[in-house]
Order: sequence, then structure tokens, then C-alpha cells
Amino acid sequence: MTELQETVLVTGGSRGIGRAIAETMGALGWQVFLTYARQREQAEDVCRRIISAGGTAHAFALDVNDRDGVAAFFKEKIKGRVHLGALVNNAGLTKDGLLLRMKKDDWDSVLRVNLDGPFACLQEASKIMVRQKKGRIINISSVVGQSGNPGQANYCAAKAGIIGLTKSAAQELGVRNITVNVVAPGFIATDMTRELTSEARAKFLERIPLGRLGDPQDVAETVAWLASDRAAYITGQVIAVNGGLYM
Ligand code: NAP
Repeated sequence: MTELQETVLVTGGSRGIGRAIAETMGALGWQVFLTYARQREQAEDVCRRIISAGGTAHAFALDVNDRDGVAAFFKEKIKGRVHLGALVNNAGLTKDGLLLRMKKDDWDSVLRVNLDGPFACLQEASKIMVRQKKGRIINISSVVGQSGNPGQANYCAAKAGIIGLTKSAAQELGVRNITVNVVAPGFIATDMTRELTSEARAKFLERIPLGRLGDPQDVAETVAWLASDRAAYITGQVIAVNGGLYM
């Protein structure tokens, strides 16, 4: 840690994996800025938990879908106000459907939130990190971004896009002492996977060598490590946190 407390911005920090990342990094001494789309109460609850454990945290409404809103957020809340040590592009959603029947809106909204949003946050954060001469960007992709998955063409395209974005950004920003990496979770027990039928869940479990769904904490530990000085020489990588699952 530098003398000035470093801030991590976690998008989608109100629930699931983002919540675990926010709480883990708060416990490690980072000031946590977390964002949410709709679940204000849950986001404020995450802040309360971080603060009651001795940390510092603030929650902000930010729809990563809104390009102008993202630019305004960085201008008003981050630039010149905090030392932005790390950005975790975690916010995401699914709108599944077989591709022959996939509605244009479901394609567009999944690409906007899962790929355009991370690009907008990465671009804004990079401008600040370049001036700081240091930064860590961690983008959350998915095992299905590497493998594809029937019924998730929109989500897989966005999550594969994140990998290309990361590898390009790592090559552009390395000289500025900014690392950019992907964490690609497998099936993690959150609201996103709660909708799986017990049959689908059993099918996935059969293919996970470690024999269980992942816990959000499994992902959070990897993100926290990538954001730390211990991972200073790692950039442009895709770190799978998937219990050995390859689809
Ligand atoms: P989750 O429990 O459904 O939480 C999603 C988070 O994203 C919430 O904080 C939500 O905010 C936020 N969000 C949704 N739409 C947003 C928008 N337009 N703008 C800003 N924030 C928005 O999801 P999760 O399972 O923790 O997933 C987190 C990340 O990991 C996602 O990128 C997901 O694709 C990825 N991932 C998850 C799994 C898994 O098995 N769960 C596997 C691989 C990858 P609100 O609470 O306000 O709605």
C-alpha cells in the first residue's frame, strides 16, 4: 500500500461475486467504491459490513450501460479525489435464449452491460491510472467466454470480447505500469446461477473435477491477489477460477 489509501472501484458490488470482492478488498485495507444498478439497500449493506469490520466503503448508483453516466461518475467521484489503485469490471447480466430465437434487445443489452460497460470503465480508469503511473485492472469474464455455451451466444460473445479487450489493453498500458488481467469464473453460487434447474446443476457438477460449485470468495481471493503488488509482473492473462471445469 502507498501512504495515500488506495481505492478500488468494483462495479456490481451489491451482490454475489462483486460483493465478495468488495468485502475482501475492504478487509485488506483498500478504500472500496462499489456500484450497483438497482439494489441500493444491498449495496449499502455491503458498505456497512466493510465499515463495521474497520474499513472504508461508499456505494454509488451507476448503470454501466450509460456511457455518459460512466464518464460523469469518473469525473465527479474519482478524478483528483482518490488514488485509483484498481478497477474491477464485475457488473454483468444474462439474458439467455437459443440464437435462432434470440431477440435483438437481448443481444444488445447483454453486449452493452457485459462488454461496452467494461470498455467505458476501463477507458476512464486508464486515463487516471496513466497520470498516476500505476494501476491494476481486472475484468471478470467467464468459462463460457472461452468455450461457448448453447443458449448464451450473447453472453459468451461479450465474455470472449472481454478477453480480447484485456489482451489489447495490457499491451497498450504495460509501458504505463498498468496491468490488465481477466478472471474467468466457472459456475459460482450466486443469484445468476440460482435459476439453474436441479437437473442442470447436477449435469454441471458432474463436469467439475473439484465436485462443487465455486464460492464467490474463491473468485474474490484471486482478484485481490491480482490487485496486489504480489502480482506486479502478471498482465494480459486469463486466470480461470473454475474448479477444473472446461466445457
Ligand atoms: P449477480 O449476483 O447477478 O450480480 C450482478 C451484479 O451486477 C449486481 O451487483 C448488479 O447490480 C450488477 N449489475 C447488473 N446490471 C448492471 C448494470 N447495467 N450496471 C451496473 N451494474 C449492474 O452476478 P454474479 O454471479 O455475482 O456475477 C458477477 C460477474 O461474474 C458477472 O460479470 C458475471 O457475468 C460473472 N460470472 C459469474 C458466474 C457465476 O457462475 N455466477 C460465472 C462466470 C462469470 P444490482 O444488484 O443493483 O442489480
